[in-house]
Amino acid sequence: MGAPVRRNAWGEAPDPDPVRTFIAARTAQVGIPAAAALGALAPALPPGALLPTVLGGGAAVAAGLSAYFVATFFPRSSFGHPLLVRLPAGAGADAVALTFDDGPHPETTPRLLDLLAAHEARATFFLVGERASQFPALARRIADEGHALGAHGLRHQAMVLTPPAQLARELSEARARIEEASGRGLGEEPWLRPPHGFKTWRLCRTATRLGWRLAAWSVDPRDYDREVTAGVLARRMTSRIGPGDVVLLHERPGVSAVTDALPAVLAWGRGGGLRFVALPPPRSSHAPVGLSRP
Ligand SMILES: [Zn+2]
Repeated sequence: MGAPVRRNAWGEAPDPDPVRTFIAARTAQVGIPAAAALGALAPALPPGALLPTVLGGGAAVAAGLSAYFVATFFPRSSFGHPLLVRLPAGAGADAVALTFDDGPHPETTPRLLDLLAAHEARATFFLVGERASQFPALARRIADEGHALGAHGLRHQAMVLTPPAQLARELSEARARIEEASGRGLGEEPWLRPPHGFKTWRLCRTATRLGWRLAAWSVDPRDYDREVTAGVLARRMTSRIGPGDVVLLHERPGVSAVTDALPAVLAWGRGGGLRFVALPPPRSSHAPVGLSRP
């Protein structure tokens, strides 16, 4: 008998750390051929040149990987591809977009929907395909109540190492599951927020070629911090949110900080003249809006 598989709050095996996995995989991909090349080259090098070659090569590889990470990997960087970070000017000078990742879940989604309805607020839900199939009534209620839908993967796993063909299959299945569960088509250019937000250039290219538009955020109140309280979260949000912001929030079964903080945040926003809106579709007439173009 093996050790029992540890499950996360969603009853799923937890996702391995995407940053560490990615670095390990890339280090092996770059390091093994580099070591082999150096091994082949070493006998031909003049005496004393081996160490400078190793150090110079290592520094060049490290600089290249760092530049790549900064330009593409992190959630708010997307070299060469359009990425939503803030709302387009057309959304209105008073608009703010709350976005909820990871759902739907019977413990969190109904509560969020009740709160949003009570404050006449709209939001965007980035659903996980398999969870939408598991809780279709919740996906449908989100759509029926006028909120926007996007995809957050087929299952909640980082996509940075997924080969393009598999990624294309998974995105298409995620889309089909969300559309079937919610009863609403995601349109020609659906929103995609990769799980954990991490990206590769290949991921961006594959997804955008298939019509997906990547959505990041401008405000992250870190609702995933361990032991975060509703009071702390509400303060973080009300001190940082302003017109045009896209706010990153999560559905976390077993943690009520987001739902407990939300009434105060929604009331504060309305009192300050902010309007909570769903993300508009990326395509308005012929030109994508609200996207930072490369
Ligand atoms: Zn997520």
